[in-house]
Amino acid sequence: AEAPAAPGKIPEPKPPSQPAIFIPVDRSPEIQEARLLLPILAEEQVVMEAVTHNRVVVISGETGSGKTTQVPQFLYEAGYASGDGIIGVTEPRRVAAVSMSQRVAKEMNLSDRVVSYQIRYEGNTTENTKIKFMTDGVLLKEIQRDFLLTKYKVIIIDEAHERSVYTDILIGLLSRIVPLRAKRGRPLKLIIMSATLRVEDFTANESLFPARPPVIEVGTRQFAVTVHFNKRTPLDDYAGEAFRKICKIHRMLPPGGILVFLTGQAEVHSLCRRLRRSFPHRPGHSGKGTVSTLPRIDLANYSSVPLEEEEAEDREAGSDGDGEAGSEADLDLGDGDGAEAETPDPSIPLYVLPLYSMLSAENQAKVFRPAPGGTRLCVVATNVAETSLTIPGIKYVVDCGKSKRRFYDQLTGVSTFRVTWISQASANQRAGRAGRTEPGHCYRLYSSAVFADFEEFSPAEITRRPVDDLVLQMKDLNIEKSLVSAEELLISLGALVEPLQTGRYKELERAKLSCPISPLGRAMASFPVAPRYAKMLALSRQHDCMQYAITLVSALTVRELFEEFNRPAVNEEETQKLKGKRARVAQMQRIWAGQGVSLKLGDLMVVLGAVGACEFAGCTLHFCTQNGLRYKAMLEIRRLRAQLTNATNAIYPEAGLFVDPKMKPPLESQVTMLRQMVLAGLGDQVARRLPPGEVLEDKWRNAYKTPLLDDPVFIHPSSVLFKQLPEFVVYQEIVETSKMYMKGMAEWIPLLLPRYTHFEKPLESPPPSYCPDTGRVRCHRASTFCKYNPCLHGCTV
Ligand code: ADP
Ligand code: MG
Repeated sequence: AEAPAAPGKIPEPKPPSQPAIFIPVDRSPEIQEARLLLPILAEEQVVMEAVTHNRVVVISGETGSGKTTQVPQFLYEAGYASGDGIIGVTEPRRVAAVSMSQRVAKEMNLSDRVVSYQIRYEGNTTENTKIKFMTDGVLLKEIQRDFLLTKYKVIIIDEAHERSVYTDILIGLLSRIVPLRAKRGRPLKLIIMSATLRVEDFTANESLFPARPPVIEVGTRQFAVTVHFNKRTPLDDYAGEAFRKICKIHRMLPPGGILVFLTGQAEVHSLCRRLRRSFPHRPGHSGKGTVSTLPRIDLANYSSVPLEEEEAEDREAGSDGDGEAGSEADLDLGDGDGAEAETPDPSIPLYVLPLYSMLSAENQAKVFRPAPGGTRLCVVATNVAETSLTIPGIKYVVDCGKSKRRFYDQLTGVSTFRVTWISQASANQRAGRAGRTEPGHCYRLYSSAVFADFEEFSPAEITRRPVDDLVLQMKDLNIEKSLVSAEELLISLGALVEPLQTGRYKELERAKLSCPISPLGRAMASFPVAPRYAKMLALSRQHDCMQYAITLVSALTVRELFEEFNRPAVNEEETQKLKGKRARVAQMQRIWAGQGVSLKLGDLMVVLGAVGACEFAGCTLHFCTQNGLRYKAMLEIRRLRAQLTNATNAIYPEAGLFVDPKMKPPLESQVTMLRQMVLAGLGDQVARRLPPGEVLEDKWRNAYKTPLLDDPVFIHPSSVLFKQLPEFVVYQEIVETSKMYMKGMAEWIPLLLPRYTHFEKPLESPPPSYCPDTGRVRCHRASTFCKYNPCLHGCTV
């Protein structure tokens, strides 16, 4: 029973959800006021009661209703982070993990040591962290180390509707972990949060949750959004079309922010530049002089993180031409032609901000701040603004209807970036961004007939990316036995076709699935990089090349070390300047590539040289700018080198490494070792130049043949081997643009030809090796002796 309140004192009010503990939070009045406007605040009691009485709870609500920022706070106040457990929140995107942790820390008036984040290469978590935002990949790694996730009391899976591969796997694993934790008497709560899409995916799946979890729907204060379709759909020039539309909105419509959806980073910058040119700032115009700090295009802020974790964005210049103006079906903006629209009303400045996932956190945060007085906010974004981030004050949305995605061909390994139509669900989500604070308008730069042809939902991510890392992680989690037995059960039930009946390909697939993980595989799984690179690291220990291997792998993971300087120039002077910079980059690359033996390591030698030289100069912005290196990329390589060194020391304590930023160039013998090591990781990505005498068709001139592709592939012009044209090469990846280009090249040592690689004209290959004990053929795939003889992986002799 509760002790009676002291006479004359009113008992402290308790939150409606009645927990025994209540941890007070000291919020500022402004924050408190803003919170009260969020629809989720009305549901606090419902949410907390559901969490108290259920192991798994689903919360669905429109973007902006307050799920991400508020639910962790409810849990914190209810004591879920006091004592021996913390609150974990996963996000599919790094951007969201970082910015949400900062926002929640600010709202709660707590330091970033308490409300922290962890993404692959960086984080600020401490022993005192109570709320931890992280990418879903980070939590998956933690499950590998501690399957029961003992340090957490609650896990929130955010943005579950995106159905990212890691999120899907996490929900699957957590559906097993939650009952196990309950059995141990230390319950773990699971909260799945999603936009109002696909909620059934999680609730109606009995194999995930036999007892249907309760769903809390957060009412939204979504205002009406009027959707306007274009009468005609511009063929290519949606950026030009977007420009004209923005001009019209800005000239003719009442105040209110504009949010524009384009597909890629370069395109975003190009449109920002064009808008800033058309609506230039005049000093003294802003009243407070704040507009003079309009953000400039800041090349140092192009980052080069790998693309896997984020939505695909490449760096090709976006289209910026002037196409024919399409006219709207709607009256609001009249039918003015393009020329007229480009005569802007100079009286109100447009406050133009870019927004994409690789933008620096600092520049990202600008979109959340109010636009300077007397200006209109215009955010030019990629689809990162679709669900993860909510920008205040948007009244007009301009939607090009497209997004850039990475497609990956599982069989050939070729990646392409394709700009494709979005799904209807995405288009509606984008339109919804206009109705957050008052009724809004969405201008779709395509016709309603085109919209009717959109797919209902976007395809699952798993069909668009390589899955080798996932398979390795699952094997390392020892859940492959259950996969195999589940598959056997399904076969006996007739749900799957008996593999032997479907021909050789399926048979091979199945053989792979049932291969147990090897000791090498276990070592590889503990490196936080893709399996190919993990293998290079695991092998380099044997050759005293570890520091170079770590540097190479860091650089290959970060990618795009050099600025490309291929943006469209504004005038002749800039054209010359860009030309000079390109020449400088090419010159430095030639120097770093060296001569003779080192040149055989090709672009990878350039990478070693660049990192070495940059570190020697203290990794300064000045050095990077002088030599065309991306400063952010170099900083990231530095971080990753340190992290991989630590990981390596943990796995091989005898290695006793430390990162020596001032790395000496490798000796010739080491270069040869490094080439072998690279081949061990990229051994299936080799190509041979078609000898000039065999070139019959023009398209094969200077072309290479790979074992997997019938079509010619070429050395990318940015490679130092572009002019060398060595006969045998190994590549990091093939990217398809106007042609299929190999990137990240080195010269391959054909003696080390992997046995399953065959060209039209067979090359000489070493004799097969047999295990001295079993007489089995050595299987290159498993790096061990295969239990099949002959090997089923296609390496029979
Ligand atoms: P949901 O997760 O339901 O989409 P959020 O919790 O992300 O909603 O957002 C709730 C509100 O907080 C939104 O109105 C958004 O504009 C605001 N908000 C989010 N991040 C920031 C920030 N960094 N600065 C200012 N406001 C923010
Ligand atoms: Mg959210």
